[in-house]
Amino acid sequence: MKGFWKSSKNKFILMGTALFSFLILLGFAVLSLVILYILKNKLGVSLYSLASIVVLILALILSVVITIIVFVAVRKAQKLIFGLSRVAAGDYSAKITYRRGDVFARVYKNFNKMTDELCSVKSMRDDFVHTFSHEIKTPLFSIQGFANLLLEGGLSEEEEQKFLKIISDEAGRLGTLADSILLLSKVENQQVLGEKAPLKLDCEITDCIIVLERQWDSKHIEIDSDLEPITINSDGAMLRQVWINLLSNAIKFTPEGGKISVSLKREKDNAVICVRDTGCGIPKEDIPKIFDRYYRSPDAKLTEGNGLGLAICKRICTLAGGSISAESEPGNGSTFTVELPLVEEDDAF
Ligand code: ADP
Repeated sequence: MKGFWKSSKNKFILMGTALFSFLILLGFAVLSLVILYILKNKLGVSLYSLASIVVLILALILSVVITIIVFVAVRKAQKLIFGLSRVAAGDYSAKITYRRGDVFARVYKNFNKMTDELCSVKSMRDDFVHTFSHEIKTPLFSIQGFANLLLEGGLSEEEEQKFLKIISDEAGRLGTLADSILLLSKVENQQVLGEKAPLKLDCEITDCIIVLERQWDSKHIEIDSDLEPITINSDGAMLRQVWINLLSNAIKFTPEGGKISVSLKREKDNAVICVRDTGCGIPKEDIPKIFDRYYRSPDAKLTEGNGLGLAICKRICTLAGGSISAESEPGNGSTFTVELPLVEEDDAF
């Protein structure tokens, strides 16, 4: 609202409205006096004088009261108009300050909510454009380079097949990267998870193990699961991203013939999910960094990935009211632990 009074247009509207309401009341007062004057003979001179004075005083009081009400109402509407014009000009940081009990409080509150939403959509868009344009370049240059080589011709059939495979792999990588960036932007700009529903964690995790069977089976990895039947009230589709990411990482970083153990237990007020592997492990100094977006340890650069999986997991766990942590001993594998709050039985059903 700074600058509200600087605008001569705002001043003109307020003053004009106040003057208009004052003139209407003055008109009513004059009309009442004329009627009293016509009835003067019937009322008698003293009653006529008294009634005239009362009408004038009432008109004066009413005009002051109405002028103040109109003045306040127009000023409040102007506050909203001023805010909306800032939004229309692209300034989504616009906020309307108001006191508790203000008659317009609900409107202002919704306005502030709307600008909050607009800010978060804007930051999501900026974030997406920035990271996407940054990360997309490498696979795109690679696709372009190999496509140009194919166009130039003169390659053996074997080379052609090899380059086509690279193009196909890079295109696949781009697709996965786009999905991850979109998902991360989405969850980072969310304040709460989506639709909550009763979720059988044990069934969900078993399902994810089955979905990834081709990957762990082809590496002859043994998967051992010990899952207590636990139901929580949460967003199953989002949490599935966590199970898939943790299991995929465990499979990716575990050598042929290794072992992965998955457990689900009730501990105090939490459901605790652990994914242990017998993979390469993570150096102690790297553990705080692995949940950062795009972080990949130097060894991990030899494997497929984009460094967004754990950042997504962390945000989803936080949104679900829980946490995620990692412990590891290089050479002896890693353990990722997710803790999610249990809900009251009544809530779950
Ligand atoms: P990505 O797997 O695509 O590289 P993530 O965000 O899922 O990205 O993981 C970030 C990094 O954390 C990995 O690059 C790797 O260095 C490390 N990491 C994650 N899970 C494991 C694991 N189970 N064993 C060893 N290192 C891991």
